[in-house]
Amino acid sequence: MADEINKVVILGSGPAGLTAALYTARANLSPLVIEGNEPGGQLTITTEVENYPGFEHGVQGPEMMEVFRRQVLRFGTRFLGGEVTEVRFKKWPFEIVAEGKVIKAESVIVATGATAKLLGIDSEKRLMGYGVSACATCDGAFFKNKEAVVVGGGDTAMEEANFLTRFVIKATVVHRRDALRASKIMQDRARKNPKIEFIWDSAVDEIFGDQKNGVSSVNLKNLKTNKITDFKTDAVFVAIGHSPNTAIFKGQLDMDEIGYLRVRPGSTYTSVEGVFAAGDVADSIYRQAVTAAGTGCMAAIDAERWLEANHPE
Ligand code: NAP
Repeated sequence: MADEINKVVILGSGPAGLTAALYTARANLSPLVIEGNEPGGQLTITTEVENYPGFEHGVQGPEMMEVFRRQVLRFGTRFLGGEVTEVRFKKWPFEIVAEGKVIKAESVIVATGATAKLLGIDSEKRLMGYGVSACATCDGAFFKNKEAVVVGGGDTAMEEANFLTRFVIKATVVHRRDALRASKIMQDRARKNPKIEFIWDSAVDEIFGDQKNGVSSVNLKNLKTNKITDFKTDAVFVAIGHSPNTAIFKGQLDMDEIGYLRVRPGSTYTSVEGVFAAGDVADSIYRQAVTAAGTGCMAAIDAERWLEANHPE
């Protein structure tokens, strides 16, 4: 693999990466997918997915990514397990260092995704997908006529709380300070919503429940008084922001102030010719599996046409 020059190397194996693999494989470009440290991406840590078109009865996230994987294998996609530690996009063919190997590529599709920031408590990890979620669009509908806690004070938290009120009887925003970070318009919308309540200066200290029955309550710690209170809830939505997985691209690809890759509007072209970006790594707004798959398809077509125009063989 070391001396071989790959036509297309895809970094990441979530819906964006594997859709890019499907299209480039069917275009006879024999893509190499470097899977990353979470093969299958964020969907592998969710449970039921009901909003991916084509799965009429819903599907478990990990199972869906298995289907994606089997589909791309049919057309000769190659996989390399492990993580990319360095990229060299200032030379061409591009070089990618993964698992101690230097992999050469004529074109690269970056689909390394984003990671939801989490509170970092053990019970959050244990109950993720069982009442704890980092995505109201994905999981809100499971809590019809129930109560939910939303952690965070930014625009995402306000948006998630507002969205949840379509289903829940009450959404309680728990914020660690007494002032929201969210934009005025989003704050106003949340404050005016009769189903949204706020608990200030507080943190979720512990989440109670089990994988069979879901979440039953949380411990809320008042950060000013250190007083802990038990608070009944059926769900905890952690909405404290996302981090795009772009650390290895610093200094090589243009990104915004948070670290999301910048792409030319309406395309997947990054600031480096021959390097394309798809999925959550370049999307702080939609962050859905289906939009990631859509931009994965776009990146494959962009890469194929770019290779055809610049490096035909
Ligand atoms: P954000 O603006 O960084 O806000 C994160 C919130 O979570 C802050 O209130 C922060 O508290 C809190 N937080 C962070 N770490 C925490 C922790 N460990 N424990 C408890 N609370 C914690 O992130 P975001 O809301 O995801 O927004 C990201 C960007 O996307 C922003 O630019 C936002 O405007 C944009 N966005 C826009 C829209 C929209 O316009 N429709 C929707 C969503 C997002 P502190 O305030 O104390 O730091």
